[in-house]
Amino acid sequence: MIIGFDDPIYSYDKLIEDAQALSKQYRKILEYVTIGKSHDNRDIALLKLGKGKKHMICCGGVHGRETINPVVLLRIIEFYAQSYTCYRQQKSSLMSKLYNPTKNLISEYERMLYAACIHELLQTYTILFVPLLNPDGYMISLEGFDCIRNEELRAKCKSMRLPHHEWKFNARGMDINRNFPSRLWRQKFEGDYPASENETKALISLFKEYKSLGFLDFHSRGKQIYYYRSQMPESYNKRVLHIAKRLKKVTNYQLVAPQEEIDPSDSGGNTVHYYSEYFGKPALTIETVDEEAAFPLDISYRAITYEEIMPVIFEFGALIIQWLY
Ligand SMILES: [Zn+2]
Repeated sequence: MIIGFDDPIYSYDKLIEDAQALSKQYRKILEYVTIGKSHDNRDIALLKLGKGKKHMICCGGVHGRETINPVVLLRIIEFYAQSYTCYRQQKSSLMSKLYNPTKNLISEYERMLYAACIHELLQTYTILFVPLLNPDGYMISLEGFDCIRNEELRAKCKSMRLPHHEWKFNARGMDINRNFPSRLWRQKFEGDYPASENETKALISLFKEYKSLGFLDFHSRGKQIYYYRSQMPESYNKRVLHIAKRLKKVTNYQLVAPQEEIDPSDSGGNTVHYYSEYFGKPALTIETVDEEAAFPLDISYRAITYEEIMPVIFEFGALIIQWLY
């Protein structure tokens, strides 16, 4: 196992090291590339998992302080890659066990079936994972403002006078999830314009490069799912509701009511607004971790969140293939 959940601080450097180690170990099915640089010159990593011609995109770490999802997404990648690779061996070992049954046969059979499904999923799709879109914000929230190497940016961040573990923004003090061009985007100060940030541009380029069938953006907190898009036609929302209900069942998370899509005092411009409006395909925000959890988020949420969202990506892949165009 490459990805562990025990490090008290899972740093950006460790994440990159682990992502590269995973792509080495599973090179037949997993590729590591970078899709851009943050403002403080950190790589934005993309992991391409699978052999399929269809694509879906999963993103994490848009907000700095939401430190659980990046490592969880890496662990999911490892589990999927491992299941895919072991599938053939598991199959033959199960066949031999069928002739020499043990009392664990049913659970082993179930595990094999699951591996077969993952094998099928990764033959159909190449899943594009961006586990940490905002590496600067992530490091600020974990270690404080001194991790920002660019003096000007560091001074700007410090001048905002916020506790570092509450930091949502990038190294320019911008909320990336209010920076995507969309109908609900609003200017928040003079000089504010959509897609001004490196991280935003990197994700938009990825969206445009691949004709993907769907997009999931993992945030924290609330254990809930945002699916409704007021700027999209009713037919779109009806179909996405069907997907959201299935994901609710898998995760036990709650669906967010349509009227709560964005706070009335807030600006739109979320990743999911951009994706749904430009491509007309399903884009959901999944909020992991309990609503009342305090920042910095307790690392015990890693294992819990892994169990909750590991099947989501699989389920989503199966659902969006049925989307009618
Ligand atoms: Zn968030």
